[in-house]
Amino acid sequence: MFRPDGFAPRLSGVSLDDLSARGFRGIIVDLDNTLVGYGQEHLADLDRDWIARARDRGFRICLVSNNFTERVGRISAELGVPGISSALKPLPRGFLAALRLLGTERRETVVVGDQLFTDVLGAKFLGLHAILTEPIVAKDWLGTRVLRFLERLVLGRKPT
Ligand SMILES: [Mg+2]
Repeated sequence: MFRPDGFAPRLSGVSLDDLSARGFRGIIVDLDNTLVGYGQEHLADLDRDWIARARDRGFRICLVSNNFTERVGRISAELGVPGISSALKPLPRGFLAALRLLGTERRETVVVGDQLFTDVLGAKFLGLHAILTEPIVAKDWLGTRVLRFLERLVLGRKPT
């Protein structure tokens, strides 16, 4: 449940060739610290390009975030992909809503996110493939910082 299926330094480091080759068609992307740095307003060009390339290749993409509607709505509109806010990850509700929007099967859907206890755990709950990224910025919401400490224990990483 706590084991990601793959790791990537960041979203734009996830190989679209590899996802294609393995039969994935849907990508659920976390927002804060996966797509946009926590507290930041704008995406890096690398990540924006990755989303554009993924769409061009026919991947279906949906953002699923525990953040509020305004932030999620603004970024999903900017990218032209649907977004689900206040998702309460790791609970299944937001991921299930995303699967309905994507129209993909669980086995052909991958979740990319920076947190073990929300993104990865929620994905594994539903049998979705999970790729854990490094957070874009070190700064986090207080609740997230507590979860990161626990993440390091589970993953056996050194405290930073
Ligand atoms: Mg995140």
